[in-house]
Amino acid sequence: DTFDSMGLQENLLRGIYAYGFEKPSAIQQRGIVPFCKGLDVIQQAQSGTGKTATFCSGILQQLDYGVVQCQALVLAPTRELAQQIEKVMRALGDYLGVKVHACVGGTSVREDQRILQAGVNVVVGTPGRVFDMLRRQSLRPDYIKMFVLDEADEMLSRGFKDQIYDIFQLLPSKVQVGVFSATMPPEALEITRKFMNKPVRILV
Ligand code: AMP
Repeated sequence: DTFDSMGLQENLLRGIYAYGFEKPSAIQQRGIVPFCKGLDVIQQAQSGTGKTATFCSGILQQLDYGVVQCQALVLAPTRELAQQIEKVMRALGDYLGVKVHACVGGTSVREDQRILQAGVNVVVGTPGRVFDMLRRQSLRPDYIKMFVLDEADEMLSRGFKDQIYDIFQLLPSKVQVGVFSATMPPEALEITRKFMNKPVRILV
């Protein structure tokens, strides 16, 4: 299998190859196409398997670049991981002109508000700061059509369950959901049952 055979936009392919990827990893071979079709996807895979590029590609393929509103929201358990995802999203989406911002704790709330106000396509963040931005209405949920939980098990074990649920309540009801997790503890399964619609389950 190749990236070329996935039906991705030319400018996304250019970003993927420019980033240095030549062939999709196993999880990318199985996960990118269903995500691009708008399906809810559960991917159970360890980190290091290429899951970041899986959901970044799926998001980048589906964004409407003429609309500078947040259309995709990615949650991660730590600031470092959120910022790393932001970088990958920006790099893969370089030729698409994607606007990405990381909303994480420990940074200026004002600066986050300023950047969100100016307009982004994608927000990557930790649950606390993202919920704060939604609560302040600095981040508008109206246009969000894709929602990804990265390292869902890790977020739950860090006590982010309530914030994740609070965020779900604010999102449009027909949002596409992707859950990426190394393990599937009961709380993670509960999320998939409550918020996902006939998810495709991919185990790598
Ligand atoms: P992740 O599981 O997303 O944290 O990715 C683990 C590492 O594998 C990162 O350093 C990626 O840059 C790298 N990687 C992901 N997909 C590919 C690929 N298709 N080809 C080469 N390296 C990759």
